[in-house]
Amino acid sequence: MQKDIKEVLFSAEQIAAKVKELGAAITRDYQENPPVLVGILKGAVPFVADLMRAIDLPLAYDLMAVSSYGAATRSSGTVRFLKDLDMSIEDREVLIVEDIVDTGLTLKYLTESLKNRGVNSIKTCTLLDKPSRRRAEIQPDYNGFVIPDVFVVGYGLDYNEKYRNLPYIGVLHEEVYKGEESNSL
Ligand code: 5GP
Repeated sequence: MQKDIKEVLFSAEQIAAKVKELGAAITRDYQENPPVLVGILKGAVPFVADLMRAIDLPLAYDLMAVSSYGAATRSSGTVRFLKDLDMSIEDREVLIVEDIVDTGLTLKYLTESLKNRGVNSIKTCTLLDKPSRRRAEIQPDYNGFVIPDVFVVGYGLDYNEKYRNLPYIGVLHEEVYKGEESNSL
């Protein structure tokens, strides 16, 4: 698996330290009304699992699934809605937890659609931000690391469902997806 990774961007230790920082900031900001964390499947699962334990508040969490990517590493711009929330978020402070914001289309779509459910507030927390490719006007309220325009995997992020279980975040060798990407675009 390691041979497919060109470079480790953030080690498990660096991620853990950053998640702690984010958790502390969220704990400070939501003292009055603890949030409902909405984790986005599947990529945000390790992040939301670690983040919720770094937040010292009686919070709730739920999961939903959207899909904006097929096998290719570039966004098609289409957001498909795959699984809704199990709980009501009416009158709640909602914090969407996502692995990465790239074009911003997914986060924009999610924020807009959850806003219509009578929420008190809605904010976003991402681990990674790739601002160079933004197409929708959206900035995460909380973000861990800003990264350049590279395709990353690990800590929940996949390429064709692989590499999600890597404990670190790394850049995939172009050779791994070159052939497949030109077939699918
Ligand atoms: P956006 O709608 O902001 O373009 O895309 C968000 C989604 O695209 C993320 O949840 C993630 O699934 C996928 N994505 C964007 N950049 C990367 C990347 O560098 N690596 C991986 N594995 N997925 C990415």
